[in-house]
Amino acid sequence: MRKKRSKVLILYLGGTFGMDADPLTIPRLNPQRLRRRLVDRVPELERLADCQVQIQMNRDSAHLDPVDWANLAKVISEQWDRFDGIVVLHGTDTLAYTASALSFLLRPCKKPVILTGAQRPLAAIRSDARRNLISAVELAARGAAEQAPQVSVFFNDLLFQGNRVRKRSAVDFAGFESPKAPVLARVGASIHVLASGSAGASRSIKSKLKRPKPAPRLRPCFSSRVLMVHLTPGFPAEALMPLLSDLDGLLLVAFPSGTAPTHQEAFRKLLSAARARGLPVMVVTEGAGVTGNEYQAGKALLDEGCLWSGTMTPECAYVKASWLLGQPRGAEILKAWWNVEFADEGVSQGR
Ligand code: ASP
Repeated sequence: MRKKRSKVLILYLGGTFGMDADPLTIPRLNPQRLRRRLVDRVPELERLADCQVQIQMNRDSAHLDPVDWANLAKVISEQWDRFDGIVVLHGTDTLAYTASALSFLLRPCKKPVILTGAQRPLAAIRSDARRNLISAVELAARGAAEQAPQVSVFFNDLLFQGNRVRKRSAVDFAGFESPKAPVLARVGASIHVLASGSAGASRSIKSKLKRPKPAPRLRPCFSSRVLMVHLTPGFPAEALMPLLSDLDGLLLVAFPSGTAPTHQEAFRKLLSAARARGLPVMVVTEGAGVTGNEYQAGKALLDEGCLWSGTMTPECAYVKASWLLGQPRGAEILKAWWNVEFADEGVSQGR
């Protein structure tokens, strides 16, 4: 029997992908013009699937906000029953944040939702846009039966779990990495599935580790009063003190092994003041560094009631904190659910 032709929804949000080649400007795009551009430059799409192109917006991703994440999740969940998979064309700068937000909002994820973008516009010579789009559509067209239904990111031949990626370069075609989680698939002469992320085998492994309480259904709302701050030697803790009253939460990006300038009195005072106010303080680390070591220089963070973020990326931790704190009684919700996995975001390792 002949296999039914797959249907893929391509949602366009903007970024370098659709920019005019020179200079890098956002062109006036309408759905017809974008569709024509895609068909002219990537005629193979026709052979891969029946693609429906929808322009959600046309912006540099620096100009996207949490409200846009919520709208995007709504648009996807309202339409995914009609498609085998969804491809989201997105600027690369804040793609890691959007992918994390979608991983929390689209639960249970019914279809493969694959975000991609480009370092050079589709209209430019030597663009990576074509390759990224073709492979993302090919993966999405496999549908939930063949491709794990989850939010992922495709870039430069690699498929990553969406809430584990970080942008690693603004110039290399290998623009993304997932330093604390395995790559899901590699596209070469054929597609090699290397890991299955939240939707597959890892579930059974995880269930042996710790069975989280069933995650609640939360609203698609985000607090706009979460501050993420990178710690530095000689951290100016006094400068932050007056801000505490305006915040719903403080996310500290610690040194790679989870340490912090806890020798500074002003820093310790900042943590105690936050604790006294009931302000949640979360700690996350960057890169693939050590997590969970009990260095004395980091232990004071825990003694002051800070919440450890396991192997979450800073982007994902920021989105999760904003989401939990965006709920009614946000501080309570955050404290109860920070260490519970909603979308395999990486809380199971660490302290
Ligand atoms: N500034 C662009 C954006 O994030 C960069 C890109 O798409 O690569 O929208």
